[in-house]
Amino acid sequence: MWTVIGTILIALASVGTGLLIDRRWGVLPRNAGLAAGKPKLLEAPGATPASAIPASIGEIERLRRAQHCTCRTAMDVSADGDRVTYGGHELLVLRFACARCGATRSLYVRDQSPATAVAAP
Ligand SMILES: [Zn+2]
Repeated sequence: MWTVIGTILIALASVGTGLLIDRRWGVLPRNAGLAAGKPKLLEAPGATPASAIPASIGEIERLRRAQHCTCRTAMDVSADGDRVTYGGHELLVLRFACARCGATRSLYVRDQSPATAVAAP
């Protein structure tokens, strides 16, 4: 029983000492340092043609309705979107705008629907 409690206390004391040392001398890397060390942050899915989201017609409709701005307002999709070709695939580019703060965003989607279901409007 006391062995367990003693072990826990020693572990807590070690962690506490480590935190105190880090606070005093800054041993552990900070978030800013980590971010600066990384060449590039990962992009959000669909933010670029290279990270296009594979989606069926139904999923595309869901994506159209599911976009929220960083100000937490639901974003409006403008028109039907453009079609571009990237890496041999045809991508649908959905363009969104925030009615509240005016922010815009493009979402790249790779249409995964069966060819028979694709009906260009
Ligand atoms: Zn906004």
